[in-house]
Amino acid sequence: DSIRAAIIAENNETAKKNYQIMEDNWNNNTDNPLLPLKENVPALFYKEMCEAGVLGFIQSATVPLRALYDKAVMNDPAFTFDNLPDVCDIKLDEHQYATIKQMVKERRTFFLEFDIRNHFRMGPVKYYNVIGKIKGSKYPDEYVMASGHLDAFDVATGGVDCGSGITPVMEAARMIMKSGAKPKRTMLFCAFAGEEFGLLGSTAWVKANKDKLGKISNLFNRDGGPTPPVGLDVPKAMYPDFVKICEPVKKIRPDYPFEVKEAGPFTKPSQPGGTDASVFAVEAVPAIDFNEKDIKGYNFSYGEIWHTERDTYSKSIPEYQEHAATVMAIVTLGVANLDHLLSREGLYK
Ligand SMILES: [Zn+2]
Repeated sequence: DSIRAAIIAENNETAKKNYQIMEDNWNNNTDNPLLPLKENVPALFYKEMCEAGVLGFIQSATVPLRALYDKAVMNDPAFTFDNLPDVCDIKLDEHQYATIKQMVKERRTFFLEFDIRNHFRMGPVKYYNVIGKIKGSKYPDEYVMASGHLDAFDVATGGVDCGSGITPVMEAARMIMKSGAKPKRTMLFCAFAGEEFGLLGSTAWVKANKDKLGKISNLFNRDGGPTPPVGLDVPKAMYPDFVKICEPVKKIRPDYPFEVKEAGPFTKPSQPGGTDASVFAVEAVPAIDFNEKDIKGYNFSYGEIWHTERDTYSKSIPEYQEHAATVMAIVTLGVANLDHLLSREGLYK
């Protein structure tokens, strides 16, 4: 028993160190299973255990299980098809893990069986942006854009990220078409591809459309859950335009507030990150998105859903989605119908 107690104490120390390594890897954004190449490992003695022929690793993962693609692996040319990881890395639901751990403590005998099927296929994989266009009647070479992304993490169906972002964009397009409105400026409704893999679709679009970047009034990107728009923070030079454009918004649903406020200049990001809008912001294209709020108290938490197995269609909130679509339609159409492009003065520092 005394030997066992000493081993348990040592294991606890090891667990602490492993936790520290995991945290460091996360902070350095380099937690990946091939790390011997990079002198960075997911756990103590990882390399040694791999060399000794370990079958795999089981770790406890906090619930909800969050999936994040490892961009260090995806973007590093040192990782090729021939040196993909072949040691299993299993993240178990923390409750299941705790049960197993307790059984170990009780010296019970048990077996764990996993049916793991990872399939790799040589790329490149073709992937498409889907873009709806309403051609401008007066300024066809000037643009207003609304966007979300088409892809999602495969751990769930992406009902929220980006289902609740892209559907109001699609619905806004449908409503504008149905209304018979003829926007003066061209309107683009974009479902960008490959956002989660590294903003691939929006980056490709920007690269292929450099000539249009100076002529985009604004990109309204929606990628933060089903909460409805409650306002806009805009620079002084845009303020009068938006106040006028947004006037009808308050009238459709008096129980939903909407406020246009003066703000900025904003810091222009030096590199893209987070969502598709950043790709445009880096190019100094206005990419002001709506302020959103859980105004009816649905107790919605994006953080509990984002990139987890909970990201399902059922988490969307119909009345929020409807309102978001209506606001998106009114505001984008309003911007498209101005007699000038939105001013960029005082937008970015
Ligand atoms: Zn997203």
